[in-house]
Amino acid sequence: MDFEDTPEQAQFRADVVAWLDANARRRTDNLLRGMEGEQAFLEAKDWYARKAAAGFACLTWPREYGGAGLTPLHDVIWAQEVAKYETRDAQFVIGIGNCGPAIMHFAEEAAKLELLPRMASAEDVWCQLFSEPSAGSDVAGLRTRAERKGDDWILNGQKIWTSGAQHSDYGVVLTRTDPTVSKYRGLTMFMIDMRQSGVEVRPIKQMDGGQHFNEVFFNDAVVPDNYRLGEVGGGWTGALTVLMSERLAISGVQPTGFPQFLDLVKSLELNGEPIANDPIVRERLATWYSQYAGLQAANKRMLTAVAKGGVAGAEASLGKLVGAVMNQEIANFACQLFGQAGIIQEDELSPEQAHFQKTVLFSPGVRLAGGTDEVMRNILAEQVLGLPQEPRADKGMAFQDIPNGKG
Ligand SMILES: Cc1cc2nc3c(=O)[nH]c(=O)nc-3n(C[C@H](O)[C@H](O)[C@H](O)COP(=O)(O)OP(=O)(O)OC[C@H]3O[C@@H](n4cnc5c(N)ncnc54)[C@H](O)[C@@H]3O)c2cc1C
Repeated sequence: MDFEDTPEQAQFRADVVAWLDANARRRTDNLLRGMEGEQAFLEAKDWYARKAAAGFACLTWPREYGGAGLTPLHDVIWAQEVAKYETRDAQFVIGIGNCGPAIMHFAEEAAKLELLPRMASAEDVWCQLFSEPSAGSDVAGLRTRAERKGDDWILNGQKIWTSGAQHSDYGVVLTRTDPTVSKYRGLTMFMIDMRQSGVEVRPIKQMDGGQHFNEVFFNDAVVPDNYRLGEVGGGWTGALTVLMSERLAISGVQPTGFPQFLDLVKSLELNGEPIANDPIVRERLATWYSQYAGLQAANKRMLTAVAKGGVAGAEASLGKLVGAVMNQEIANFACQLFGQAGIIQEDELSPEQAHFQKTVLFSPGVRLAGGTDEVMRNILAEQVLGLPQEPRADKGMAFQDIPNGKG
């Protein structure tokens, strides 16, 4: 594929740059700013409202749902340009990136017209309620129940690790509606109003000091049937749509840490010598550069497929796996280079505003979110390499008959 812009794409790029110049500050370094806290949340809401008003929100969504009706390549151009500015552009990726496509595909038309434009401008914020204390990688093993009562469904159970639930107006929730059939066939997906009394959100404090995610408890929470996403018992199909969108969305914002490491190597001195002269540093730089270049090439292959009207393949899983591991390894290595300063996490005192120290503490979570390393390897093994499926001991069993340790 030719990666040069067509005249139309070049014009779009120029429009994007002009708008970004007028509405955001250009980055002077490669550092990724913190994404947490009330202030960041409010900044992000304001940013999305302005972006939507200018017609740059959700570029590939149809106009009637708050989008711009453009192509995935316009999305790529936006991502390439916005990365050069300091913005909160990735803050609502869970709602817009993961939940949005599933709602577009499975919701009733009236619900789409009501809810999607408010999601696109971040007037409403959304979360994804899948994982439970005993259902993460094996999310189809979840236990939150939804029972039909007239025109409503009544939800009881618990979710965990729900990113952004403390700020969310709505969520997409996966529930069990029939335990008498296999675990995949007894699931149903809904949209839920998070601001009702039957929903309790309890923040979880992380080791980096932030509160990114939450426990969410449903105590007779009510969902109208017209907020159902897909067929009763068809929730697994909907969940796969969300999970595939999630991997794609994550691959778009997945930090690798490489540009930051390159900046560091260019600027840091150790014992009066530039660290770029150190053979170990040079060896690491070469290894991570080759991985980074490989990811860029895989990304271009994905773009080529999309440009030809196809869909992204397993490249998203590859990007997630390689990028998340590299990100953590780079942060650990950089902090070792800093010596004793490596344990000080102070924006004013630490090199590179403590970017690497913060990454040491948050990067393990990135290797779990959206599918762990092992789950990514299973996907690549089965879908790319064609290796045999891993054994599934509960295959064909009714969910209620699967041993759960309770006798
Ligand atoms: C930062 C962050 C944000 C998150 N946000 C959300 C969110 O918004 N919404 C949401 O629903 N969830 C969210 N999650 C949860 C996330 O999806 C789960 O943590 C993830 O799916 C793993 O599930 P688990 O934590 O239950 O681990 P488990 O599934 O219990 O895994 C434990 C270990 O066993 C390994 N393992 C499990 N199964 C296999 C297998 N078949 N083969 C080989 N190894 C295996 C895993 O790789 C892991 O090392 C978030 C998690 C993080 C860290």
